Amino acid sequence: MASKRDYYEVLEVNKNATDEELKKAYRRLAKKYHPDANPNNKAEAEAKFKEVNEAYETLSDPQKRRMYDQFGADGPQGFGGAGGPFGNGTYTYSTGFDGFSDFGDLGDIFSTFFGGGFGGNSRTRQNGPKKGTDLRYDLEISFEESFLGTERYVTINRKETCDICHGEGTKPGTHPETCSVCHGSGQIKQVQTTILGQMQTTRTCTNCHGTGKVITNPCENCKGKGTIRKQVRLSVKIPAGVDDNQTIVLKGEGEPGQNGGSKGDLYILIHVKRHSIYSRKGNDVFCDIPITFTQATLGAELKIPMVDGTEETYKIPEATQTSTKFIIKNKGFKNLNSNSQGNFIFTVQVQVPKKLSQEQRELLTKLAKTMNEQPPVKKKGIFG
Ligand SMILES: [Zn+2]
Ligand SMILES: [Zn+2]
Repeated sequence: MASKRDYYEVLEVNKNATDEELKKAYRRLAKKYHPDANPNNKAEAEAKFKEVNEAYETLSDPQKRRMYDQFGADGPQGFGGAGGPFGNGTYTYSTGFDGFSDFGDLGDIFSTFFGGGFGGNSRTRQNGPKKGTDLRYDLEISFEESFLGTERYVTINRKETCDICHGEGTKPGTHPETCSVCHGSGQIKQVQTTILGQMQTTRTCTNCHGTGKVITNPCENCKGKGTIRKQVRLSVKIPAGVDDNQTIVLKGEGEPGQNGGSKGDLYILIHVKRHSIYSRKGNDVFCDIPITFTQATLGAELKIPMVDGTEETYKIPEATQTSTKFIIKNKGFKNLNSNSQGNFIFTVQVQVPKKLSQEQRELLTKLAKTMNEQPPVKKKGIFG
């Protein structure tokens, strides 16, 4: 077993320190090395904190202190053995800082030291202003709607301020009364005597559940809650160019806040349906355009269907190979944050006729005789 630092050294006291001096030293060091107070070097603080606790646990117990003075930490039976510092494992430590139950009432002590931030569960005042709940609505729109923009109506179910009591939760003509237990603060302060001296702790008032107010005559419409569930129909303006998985925020269309807090927001999550012809990448539109092999060979004027329903005429040159891409500038999606627009990119796919008339077959046979039977096989380069 690795030798331990001297417990007196750990607590920075001399060997004749009184109980009061030990207590003071422990209090100071526990506060100094508490991991929550050392966010930048948690691991090191944690080790020190553990060491301080261990030292204090031994030296604050007169019997253990005598044993320690006589034999040291590596002394006989139980000291420094395999079963932990004192054999029976009176003190276990969780490194995750999520379970401080091991410290018994120390949890309360430290919540007083660190404003309740023990293990991350900060104790917020429950009767202060609280923003209302944000809501989410998933809205599916077509590819064309995302291209052109649109206005859609959505029906959501949300809490609304009760219009009989205006959110007070009391019968008309009456008002909530100040809680007689906590006198409106929502919290109960208690002074406890602990090993670290007199400590003040704070609990949420159970009479008013932290609100500081009590309703004796509840409003019949909302049963005292101050809110009521309603179906609300809202218009949502969807800008041209919106993409799949983008969110439109309707400020203040969430649920009502509490104690004068602002309303929550409504988040509309956009889902764009797949299109049978078009696809989107960034603000560009992509599609395949089938052409005949004569159009590919001789060149042609193509009518290209745009997403907005119009047609663009585009001239492809003779000897166009299959899979060639052509770009029609500024016919893609509108950029949501600027006036620029993406491009429309189409790829020609040469189709081989499946059926030929007698005449077509004869013409093609004649054509074949004038050409080499097969084009030469070229090795594909990087740009092949
Ligand atoms: Zn009401
Ligand atoms: Zn109360």
